[in-house]
Amino acid sequence: MSTIEVRKLTKQFGAFTAVKDADLKVDAGEVVCLLGPSGCGKTTTLRMIAGLERATAGDIMIAGQRMNELPPQKRDIAMVFQFYALYPALSVGANIAMPLHYESLSKADADARVMKVAKIMHLDTVLDRMPNQISEGEKQRLAVARAIVRDPNCFLFDEPLSRLDVELRHSMRGQIKEVLQGLSKATVIVTHDQLEALTMANRIAIMKEGVIEQIGTPHDVFAKPANVFVASFIGTPQMNLVEADLTSFGDGMAAVVLAGQQVSIGADPGVSRLKPSKVTIGIRPRAFAVAGEKARDTIAAQAELIEPMGAETLIHARTADGRDIRVVVPREKRVKVGEPLHLRPDARQTHFFGDDGKAVRA
Ligand code: ATP
Repeated sequence: MSTIEVRKLTKQFGAFTAVKDADLKVDAGEVVCLLGPSGCGKTTTLRMIAGLERATAGDIMIAGQRMNELPPQKRDIAMVFQFYALYPALSVGANIAMPLHYESLSKADADARVMKVAKIMHLDTVLDRMPNQISEGEKQRLAVARAIVRDPNCFLFDEPLSRLDVELRHSMRGQIKEVLQGLSKATVIVTHDQLEALTMANRIAIMKEGVIEQIGTPHDVFAKPANVFVASFIGTPQMNLVEADLTSFGDGMAAVVLAGQQVSIGADPGVSRLKPSKVTIGIRPRAFAVAGEKARDTIAAQAELIEPMGAETLIHARTADGRDIRVVVPREKRVKVGEPLHLRPDARQTHFFGDDGKAVRA
């Protein structure tokens, strides 16, 4: 069974801890993206799974077997790197066939495997060309074709699309996802691009400074971020995170003082556990209603900068005490710079974080 599991995986470079106590299980047919800012330990985690980096502590299991002491070639994995090295003097077909040289296959069986993979990756019409005679997208597909031709136990991808332009990246995301769905292998993809993770992954592991902060489906990490870091990292434009004083909670409503204003905001029942205290309130830019001047329980702010984004408009608004709030409204909603706004947060999309930065939920 194709599975990958790491338990309490840790990597020290001297005194520096690059990865700390990472726990992650990837099932057969599942794609998990490691996502996080530069330097958070994504590649180091992947390299330890691949056997290219020795773990300082913890276990690496592939298909249920402990792999820590085995070299990369004995782990039965295929890896696709950001800088995929193609053999320039070999045709596309010969490039795909290369990994099969180490397997005892008849020429007919090897040719059949190459043709099958070439068809999956839409390379069957360019098999005789040389790598310098194919497009960037085809080169990327060739790198994936070489990885899947051998039928390994699992796949590891390190920023596989980062060299492609935006449009190509978009179409390749879909194509690679489709191919992986048909292969029933455990796959780990490293990316710093949240859109890539949200679209390709079954689950996302979000890392910060060597620690996995949350593992969840794309929906979960967006709709139920575990803490302030995940909330701020996932979603574009970024979630508004506003400090406030919680004064009381009752009937599903939290009374808060926010930007100097008394506001009653719908909140998760778990907020009832909090004593009157400082909290951080997270509100996505698309989770505000722009209400009338007399509406109650709104946050007053003034439009400072208007950014048209096509079908929607991003408004940068400022409260009287100088806080910036990002609001996204439909294009039809005309707002002028300097206009006073009364913003009512949608209770279902409002997140409360305690003073430890963790989401408060029932
Ligand atoms: P990026 O998105 O920039 O590739 P990353 O999340 O993949 O970042 P890693 O490459 O895993 O990050 O690096 C994690 C941390 O470990 C970084 O601070 C990096 O400088 C450090 N690091 C990586 N390799 C070594 C090494 N061989 N020696 C010392 N420190 C290292």
